[in-house]
Amino acid sequence: RTVYVNGEYLPETEAKVSIFDRAFLMADGVYEVTSVLGGKLIDFDGHAKRLARSLKELDMKAPCTEDELLAIHRELVARNEITDGLVYLQVTRGSAGDRDFAFPDPETTEPTLVLFTQNKPGLADSPAAKTGIKVISLEDIRWGRRDIKTVQLLYPSMAKMAAKKAGCDDAWFVEDGKVTEGSSNNAYIVKGGKIITRELSHDILHGITRAAVLRFAKEAQMVVEERSFTIEEAQQADEAFVTSASSFVMPVVELDGAQIGTGTPGPVAARLREIYLEESLKLAV
Ligand code: PLP
Repeated sequence: RTVYVNGEYLPETEAKVSIFDRAFLMADGVYEVTSVLGGKLIDFDGHAKRLARSLKELDMKAPCTEDELLAIHRELVARNEITDGLVYLQVTRGSAGDRDFAFPDPETTEPTLVLFTQNKPGLADSPAAKTGIKVISLEDIRWGRRDIKTVQLLYPSMAKMAAKKAGCDDAWFVEDGKVTEGSSNNAYIVKGGKIITRELSHDILHGITRAAVLRFAKEAQMVVEERSFTIEEAQQADEAFVTSASSFVMPVVELDGAQIGTGTPGPVAARLREIYLEESLKLAV
């Protein structure tokens, strides 16, 4: 596989980053995952804009322009012959050649930019979308700026492991009795035809798929309510689902052992998945 590191396209075995890189030592980095369908990038503009916001919120320098980022994405997709898959991008504050809590001088320290692809044939035809997934709930003990897409992913990793141990697929996080989001996706319930999902704040990641799905839902005259909800409310909902760049719209059919709705993917989630795939493909670059 060919990967990109700081201006160079290299075989993955030759790619190198400093051991003093602040992402390695302090999780001082941000990332984006963009899906590729039919060789085209889905929601690229949204991901590029959110990357710029994450960088700004952390006082980090942008490694290059949005146009340059798009060119790098396309070049990697082409070189690795990706039809369906993902492009992972990471920007870190770079390395000052030592370990120090204080940020290094941005005048003399260049950010590190790394991109690689993951080949996922049939990404849009995931069998899980037909059966739905099972989730468990866990206390949300992440930091208070979940709107910034940092590489600090230890707790989400632990949550996925706990879900797996419980015979489930993923976890939903709960804070003050209300669902924040999934471990790597935004969470929704459907009740009486209404699509309910937590409002945007520092408590959740502002999902690019979430923004697109809510826009398409409103365009299709579906009712959207942005508010938080409890686990009990979700267990009694007609449907539940999650959204993310890599899973699109994924039905959730079980929560903490309780079946949601009929225990199979519901019509709203199925329709939103269809609309999202169709409309976002039209806008793909
Ligand atoms: N919430 C969290 C915590 C995530 O990690 C992700 C994606 O990685 C999302 C939500 C969904 O965001 P997006 O739709 O931009 O992939």
